[in-house]
Amino acid sequence: MTETVIITDVGPRDGLQNQPKVLSPAERLRLIEALVAARLPAVEIGSFVSPKAVPAMANTDQIAAGLPAANTHFSALISNMRGYEQARAAGIQSLNIPVAASNTMNEKNIRMDNQQAIALTTEIIARAKTDDVAIIPYIATAWECPFEGPVKAQTVRAMTRTFLQAGATAVVIADTIGAANPAQVKSLYAALISEHGTGQLGAHFHDTRGFGVANATAAFEVGVRRFDASIAGLGGCPFAPGASGNVATEDLVLLFEQMGIATGIDLRKLVAAAELAADLTASNAGGNALGWLRSQRDKGLL
Ligand code: ZN
Repeated sequence: MTETVIITDVGPRDGLQNQPKVLSPAERLRLIEALVAARLPAVEIGSFVSPKAVPAMANTDQIAAGLPAANTHFSALISNMRGYEQARAAGIQSLNIPVAASNTMNEKNIRMDNQQAIALTTEIIARAKTDDVAIIPYIATAWECPFEGPVKAQTVRAMTRTFLQAGATAVVIADTIGAANPAQVKSLYAALISEHGTGQLGAHFHDTRGFGVANATAAFEVGVRRFDASIAGLGGCPFAPGASGNVATEDLVLLFEQMGIATGIDLRKLVAAAELAADLTASNAGGNALGWLRSQRDKGLL
């Protein structure tokens, strides 16, 4: 049996929220349509947060209203009950909530300490159960916090346990600033998987130090099968100094496909989506593999 992985493209949210150029809703939708055309199984379409805090994510309700009919699993990011209500009103049934593993990061990101952030998340999970909405908490800065330094594995393990016991659909462990190395990735996931299995755990890596693909490989080797990535490596966190782009979707797809692990994604169309992402953001965005992929396409080999 062929191994498979599920890749969620978070470019339309994590990627675009930190670009100097703010895209119009129509441009954001064009990017999502390109990802759908490339057969991404899942796409995070944007966030329902204060447009004052994150201007690039204003009007996500218009994105939700304009989504193409597709088999793609669409989700959005929220950070409080207000965002939850807005997302539900917009018809999004799968929501991601960032909760940092350190107090300072929570205070910068959502103006709460850890205990308050965890309490709010479990409250939203409880509410979502009655509404049949899926909630995936993202444990941000899970290996290292830009303000407090290394994060204890036991902190991440306790948060994961709390969220899954409360009824979260899954938990994504996020290396928000791209500081983790493959040994640390293996060790944390091995501990989490021994406790919860692999089905409810996802991985979210940034490529700040160029370790994104290495970290994804390490996570795969210990059993992780759900990965976030961002088209053309767009990304960064507006509240975490030093955070750069996510691991690029094209890098991750090429890696897995060459290892014989199926992603279900059309690489040729993915290259077109990466080119569109660079075009729309007026940047030279692109993953490490994009140059090679383009040369293969131009030779008719993709
Ligand atoms: Zn991120």
